[in-house]
Amino acid sequence: MAKRRLNKQQQWRIKKIQQERAARAAKKEKAIEQQAEAGELGPEQEGLIIAHYGQQLDVEALEGEDSGTVFRCFVRANIDSLVTGDRVIWRKGKSETGVIVARCDRQNLLQRPDNFGALKPVAANIDHIILVIAPEPEPHDNLIDRYLVASETSDIPAVILLNKTDLITEENREQIEELLSRYEDLGYEVVRTSAAESGNEPAPEVAALVKDQTSVFVGQSGVGKSSIIQTLLPGESLRVGAVSESTGKGIHTTTTAKLFHLPLGGDLIDSPGIREFGLWHMTPQEIEYGFREIRELIGMCKFRNCRHMGDPGCALEAAAAEGRISLERLKSFHRILADMTEQQARGLRVD
Ligand code: GDP
Ligand code: ZN
Repeated sequence: MAKRRLNKQQQWRIKKIQQERAARAAKKEKAIEQQAEAGELGPEQEGLIIAHYGQQLDVEALEGEDSGTVFRCFVRANIDSLVTGDRVIWRKGKSETGVIVARCDRQNLLQRPDNFGALKPVAANIDHIILVIAPEPEPHDNLIDRYLVASETSDIPAVILLNKTDLITEENREQIEELLSRYEDLGYEVVRTSAAESGNEPAPEVAALVKDQTSVFVGQSGVGKSSIIQTLLPGESLRVGAVSESTGKGIHTTTTAKLFHLPLGGDLIDSPGIREFGLWHMTPQEIEYGFREIRELIGMCKFRNCRHMGDPGCALEAAAAEGRISLERLKSFHRILADMTEQQARGLRVD
């Protein structure tokens, strides 16, 4: 993911593609205008984006007799990027098509890095991120913290869901409980479940968690996200993770984020990409903000430019020494800062 320089020919090609794209957009805009002028577009109404395919989006009608029906919609050229989960104002066109004319305000936006490390918006209006961990593969608290930093900086609450409780043994119990209580002490909600033991039905504790909420599942591969999602969306089993991951090829023909209505109430937004949430470059300021107990202490170090790495008069070190913040979290904070600095030094993109 090193920075790339484009040569003249590549620059020319990109310019040409952009020009063609602009011409197509103008043509589409014109067609929309014509439909509108001919009185072929219905009145403005509210809708929900449930999937996104390049230039077209699936919008579910939220009002009137069409409520619940999905319309393939185009977008007016003057609307900035729309994502799954966005609420929009749209107008019905001929057959099951329509035109999106405006985007409603967003509660929040979930992003993920593209192949060049730049952040791309993927989903909006999420009530919580469900961070799944398990006794196996063993949770790295560093990875948990990266997800949590991303959730804090995205302003989307995170819940920690320990799956595979059936794999808790006398040997690993203490360590797992210690880890979970560390996060509970910080105010994070922790839920325990076992997809293996819940059969095909959603486990009651998972059902209670997702009911009437818009949820997103994240977490390292193998922790059981697909298994849990399958219990929530029995009919959609092929769409989610495990199958495509294990064959390496992909049932997925697209990586678009999709919004699913859960039979028990509430929505789930999922895509292979969303599961990479949080694994992008973060600035030291974002990392400081993302550790909620450290955020409180920022500005209290002796030196304004304190690097919190053993600098004299560091408020974080003092808090850790007095047991006000956990040593593990401080270590993890240092690790993430160091990893990011190293990444930057290797020339990865920062934006
Ligand atoms: P994902 O990569 O996070 O989507 O994880 P999967 O859902 O593909 O699960 C990875 C493996 O863990 C599969 O072999 C599942 O059968 C297994 N698994 C999922 N949930 C449980 C559980 O609660 N207990 C046990 N023992 N295994 C589980
Ligand atoms: Zn400091």
